Parts: sequence; C-alpha cells; structure tokens
Amino acid sequence: MHRLIDCHMHSTHSCDATATFDELCESALKQGLRGICVTEHIDFDKADPGYGYYDYDAYMADVDRCRKKYGSRLMIKTGIEVTYQTEFEDDIRRFLSAYEFDHVLGSVHLIDHVFILYPEYLEGRSKSEAYEPYWQEVLAMVESGLFKFIGHLDYIKSLRREEYGEFAVEEWMPYISVILEKLVQSGAILEVNTSALRRGHAEPYPGWAILRLYKDLGGTHVILGSDAHSPHRVGLGFREAAAQLRQLGLEICKDDMFPSSMTI
Ligand SMILES: [Zn+2]
Ligand SMILES: [Zn+2]
Repeated sequence: MHRLIDCHMHSTHSCDATATFDELCESALKQGLRGICVTEHIDFDKADPGYGYYDYDAYMADVDRCRKKYGSRLMIKTGIEVTYQTEFEDDIRRFLSAYEFDHVLGSVHLIDHVFILYPEYLEGRSKSEAYEPYWQEVLAMVESGLFKFIGHLDYIKSLRREEYGEFAVEEWMPYISVILEKLVQSGAILEVNTSALRRGHAEPYPGWAILRLYKDLGGTHVILGSDAHSPHRVGLGFREAAAQLRQLGLEICKDDMFPSSMTI
C-alpha cells in the first residue's frame, strides 16, 4: 500500500460527502497510502444536486492547510471530478481553463438530466435505451479531449439489475471497444475505481475484461481511486486491485505521471 495514491475521493466540499479533509488524510495515513487526491464534484447541470456547490477557494484553503499539517507524511494532490455532459462542454472547457489541478477526472453520471442510477432513469426505457446513451456519452467525453483521466468507465453496470438481469459486459463490448480505442489513441488513462466493491460487485469499475482489452489495445497505465465519500472507505480494496493489475501487466501511475496542466 505504501506506494499507492488514492486518486478519487470526496470531502464535504462535495454535496454528497460527509468526510472532512482532515479525516481523509488521517484515514490515508492509517492505510499506509503514499498520497491522496481529493476530487470534488463539479456539476454544470441545474438538475444536478451538486450544481453551484463547488467552491474552489474553500477547497484550496483545505489543501494548503492539510499540506502544512500532513505534507511531510502524505502527498496531497489537487483534483476535480467533472460530471461530463456533451451539452455543457463549453462550460467545462471554460472552468478547466480558469482553474488548475494536478488531476482532472471526467465521469458520466447523468443522461437526459437524470442520474443514471436513480429508478426514474429507467422509466420508459428499454434495456438498450438505458445503456446505449451512456456508452455514447462516455465516447463523447473521451473524444472531447478534456480529460487526462476517465472515471468509473462501466459505472452503468450498477443500474438496478432486476430490470434487465445481470450486467453482461460482452453485450456492450462493441461500444466499449470503440471507447477504449479512442481513449488509448488520445493518451488518456483509465481509472480503476474500487467503489464498485461496496456496491456489491466482485470487480471494480471497470471490470477485468475491460481492463484486459485496454491493455491489448495498448493501454499501459491506470490510476486507483476509492471514490470514498466517508473516511473509512479511503483505499478500499487497493491491495487486491493492485495485485490483479500487476497480473494484467498494467502499471499504476506514479506521482510524476500527474501532469501539472489539466488537459491532454
Ligand atoms: Zn463519479
Ligand atoms: Zn466520485
């Protein structure tokens, strides 16, 4: 664990998290992590509960304060998790040129202004109408070139399963392989997000079949993120994930892989 950085977590600067910055740092130290990156949500859709919540100055004040307090023992990177929606691409571009982060993560959470894991997302949608727009939006996100890091790629596997049966990755591979080809070509890097484990999945987001294909297509590196919203989830499942990634021949980014500029 001592070499690993948890690149995805949220503090009270995100509307849906309960952990303070200090609690996240303390938990990371307890886990023996080398570093953390607190990636608060930034949302551009008024329908998103996180809209208008983000406060860069308050976030940076906590980063500076915690660097003074923990910096000799813990590397603290700056980051952001951007909710990508094609229609807000201009706003996202403006935001990313106005603020600088070590780590910019792009994630798809909403389709047609609805969070994809809410029951109402499924209303009136067939199985393909539920999944396809998600893959299309992820592809658009990759093609936008806005993000060095792509968050929880198969997040949609957490859709309520009783509606459509178990998520079968093979079924969506035609979409996923196009996404991965573009992603590798662009030099973007996949996040391996272990929060899937606390949502009852046996594999992280994305699962091993997707990570194997990423490797086959020329992907070399990943980052690890717990997506912790509370302190005890920092570094969740990292040891096992790191061992699996080694077996797959994928390398976990070292701290010098983090660019200081936010775009690729
Ligand atoms: Zn997310
Ligand atoms: Zn997150």
